[in-house]
Amino acid sequence: MKISFNREACQGHNRCYLLAPELFDVDDEGYAVLLVTGDVPEQLHAKAQLAVDNCPEYAITLTEENPPA
Ligand code: SF4
Repeated sequence: MKISFNREACQGHNRCYLLAPELFDVDDEGYAVLLVTGDVPEQLHAKAQLAVDNCPEYAITLTEENPPA
């Protein structure tokens, strides 16, 4: 599972940071900063999904990795 973040869409609600501080930080202007690049560790999948589900701006995206061929 990979996570990506659209800084242009982020409005700085910081719900993501409150729900998943392992994955998000907050910058000096109050906008989210993604702490993980690429693969989300297995133990954080549920929190990643929670952050996606609670971002009002749809700024966070999760993509499933392709199964091995
Ligand atoms: S919840 Fe969404 S819009 Fe709000 S700070 Fe996090 S990424 Fe940005």
